[in-house]
Amino acid sequence: MMNIVKKLNLFLKVKLESDLKDYLGVSNMSLFCNGHLALMIAIRAMNFPKGSEIITTPFSFSSTTHAIVDNGLIPVFCDINDVDYTIDVDKIESLITDRTVAILPVHVYGHICDVEKIDKIAKKHHLKVIYDAAHVFGVQYKGKSIASYGDISMFSFHATKVFNTIEGGALVYNNDSLKDVLEKLKNFGINGPEKVELVGINAKMNEFQAAMGICNLRHIDREIEKRSKVYKRYVKRLSNISGITISKEQKGVVPNYAYFPIVFDKKKFGKTRDEVMDELRKENIYTRKYFYPLINDYDCYKDKYSSKDTPIAKYISDNVLTIPMYADLSLDDVDRICDIILRK
Ligand SMILES: *Cc1c(COP(=O)(O)O)cnc(C)c1O
Repeated sequence: MMNIVKKLNLFLKVKLESDLKDYLGVSNMSLFCNGHLALMIAIRAMNFPKGSEIITTPFSFSSTTHAIVDNGLIPVFCDINDVDYTIDVDKIESLITDRTVAILPVHVYGHICDVEKIDKIAKKHHLKVIYDAAHVFGVQYKGKSIASYGDISMFSFHATKVFNTIEGGALVYNNDSLKDVLEKLKNFGINGPEKVELVGINAKMNEFQAAMGICNLRHIDREIEKRSKVYKRYVKRLSNISGITISKEQKGVVPNYAYFPIVFDKKKFGKTRDEVMDELRKENIYTRKYFYPLINDYDCYKDKYSSKDTPIAKYISDNVLTIPMYADLSLDDVDRICDIILRK
């Protein structure tokens, strides 16, 4: 029995990894128990000297900055742009110092960063690029997986994401020599029965997660297609309304319809983000202030950083609401949500 379970384990994880590589069209991948530890290990594998700086944005989930700090490195916050809410590529270079070692941008909401400009800056200054790609599973840019850009990309397979393994994550990378160190770091640094080479941790995906992933991957195209119907209905109902900004489709991008963020301008719209959120909650519709508060305003970071330095991120964080967005949301419910939002 034990042997069968062991073989099955190995088989499930190997199969999920190979299915995911095929689906995404990428050549290197390592699976993890969650996205956060994957990101931690991506950074650790780069062996940056302690105290080095990594340029990132405060408009993200806590994981992004925590992964930098937990590695003994220093986050340097760059503002975002007000079009797709990803890192403002025109502000990166002014933040580079002789201690900068990497850029860690976030593809927020399923919108992709300006990967070409980031690549140019990184090459010019000899920096690594690690993407927080937690929101962009399945997204393609110019016919390639978004994860093929940069040195490493982290996907999260948390239950709230477009593709999930209940919890889980993966790293995708271009340099195949990284496989060896990533696989060791996630398994206590062990390399063989009598050999421990690195100070690793336990961040392995487990076999139940892999089984869940194999099942969910079979339905992913259909899930994304259903999301697209919800998304398009929202766009139809919420376009061209004074005081409401919704995201635009990005050129050359095959989207995954991960989130539907709305930015409210109280002066023009008449209601604040928080008022809309309360009205929806009264009707049992749950939305999220995603991302609020801004990371540089967190209790654990506010003594060292200020959201005043990233005014666009601050403004978006104060006025954005993500509304319900999932494959099985009915179009009638979408209409009901929009009616409440637009009610005067
Ligand atoms: C979900 C998420 C993570 C962390 O992923 P987990 O799998 O929950 O650890 C990191 N960054 C962003 C932007 C996320 O949305």
